[in-house]
Amino acid sequence: MKRLTFSFDNGPEPGATEPLLDFLRERSIKATFFVVGDRLDAAGLALARRAHREGHWIGNHTLSHGTPLGREGDAARVAREIGETERLIGPLAHPDRLFRPNGAGALGPHLLSPAAVAYLAANRYTVITWNNVPGDFRPPHEAWLETALATLDAQDWSLLVLHDPFIARMLDRLARFCDALEARGIAIVQSFPPSCILMERGVATPELAACVTPASGVAPAEAQPSHPSQRGQT
Ligand SMILES: [Zn+2]
Repeated sequence: MKRLTFSFDNGPEPGATEPLLDFLRERSIKATFFVVGDRLDAAGLALARRAHREGHWIGNHTLSHGTPLGREGDAARVAREIGETERLIGPLAHPDRLFRPNGAGALGPHLLSPAAVAYLAANRYTVITWNNVPGDFRPPHEAWLETALATLDAQDWSLLVLHDPFIARMLDRLARFCDALEARGIAIVQSFPPSCILMERGVATPELAACVTPASGVAPAEAQPSHPSQRGQT
């Protein structure tokens, strides 16, 4: 049976995460929220606590969601981006210590530096990527639905990335998407497809090498989210 896993990145976002959680509860869907540390102020933490209480998994999506760690990832920055976020997440963290690097939706060596890999291994993180990023964060935002369906039709197990602030404004489309999954007989699961796991409790998988900057080289140049309006990107 084909499977689909939901993940929601870049929150929590007051005003958006609440209706999204309401929707997921109504549909009995369990997902993972990969949260950004800088968003875990009192209001953000309250939303993460609610998500955790309602059965969702909480993962670490860096502190600043800035330059990907494969491009700017010395040991000190890595420890701050990952370690400080994990400290903020505290007891809400999944026991496998889920971490998702940011990288503007693209997979590749820009995601992690050798220092990041060393840190993630030493601290026994489980590193999760994605295989379905339909672009709810970029105009025309509504087009994510068709893009997501076209992508998953070619997959056995789709790990979908959506973003709290954008999808919360399109819950009608999310409902249509869930109906389409049901019509296709696709099961919604909370776990992750093996092809999207770079490390498992600190142990590298065969998928890791393609997502690490070579120790001697610099990752190829690529557009990066730097402007605040691009914060919605994966
Ligand atoms: Zn992101």
